[in-house]
Amino acid sequence: MKNIILIAPPAAGKGTLSDILSNRYNIPHISTGELLRERSYVDDEFGIDLLCMMKSGKLVDDDTVINVLKERISSSDCKNGYLLDGFPRNINQAYSLDNILSDVGLSIDYVIYLDIDYNTALERITGRMSCPKCGAIYNKYNMLRKPKVEGICDRCSSPLITRADDNEDTFKQRYDSYIECTLPVIEYYRQKNKLAEFDGRLESEQIADMVSDILMR
Ligand code: AMP
Repeated sequence: MKNIILIAPPAAGKGTLSDILSNRYNIPHISTGELLRERSYVDDEFGIDLLCMMKSGKLVDDDTVINVLKERISSSDCKNGYLLDGFPRNINQAYSLDNILSDVGLSIDYVIYLDIDYNTALERITGRMSCPKCGAIYNKYNMLRKPKVEGICDRCSSPLITRADDNEDTFKQRYDSYIECTLPVIEYYRQKNKLAEFDGRLESEQIADMVSDILMR
């Protein structure tokens, strides 16, 4: 059983690293951003409110995120553990997660923290393109991460999209809320001796190998 949290500023490579680890350990990758995005595409009042909030880069309210997460981790595919990407994003969510897990006799095993500087993250965000079908991620400014054919997914040939929140203004808002709300979460897990820190500028495969060394201990 491995209950793992991945924490990082926007564009540090959480999604790619989560995919690698989730395949390696056969545990689901649970991204609250993805769960909320899926819900925001439903054409009702709640979906529209959610979409507006996410486009602005603000955090969605705790009750909504916690309910969405609670429902997801109670699914049968989570019984051998999971990788949380994008949750907890503030200290209240960290406490709620402790309570949800302790109610069923569980706790978080590891917290992986990917750090990256503001300018590197900004370049990654403004160049990022993703595949809405298979989730592959590309970057038009990075020779190693460009798709072979411009605007088309290498894996499944679908047209690539730029996420509505991948622009400079939204990035600044997201980065500010990371500094204000998420840094205290990192300190919280550091004090509990659960934190493993990595340089988010390294290649994701390299980070995944270092993470695996820790998970094997
Ligand atoms: P992400 O895909 O993780 O970058 O998340 C995209 C957006 O979803 C964020 O900018 C927030 O608006 C919302 N979101 C994702 N996870 C959370 C969370 N744990 N708490 C509040 N809002 C979240």
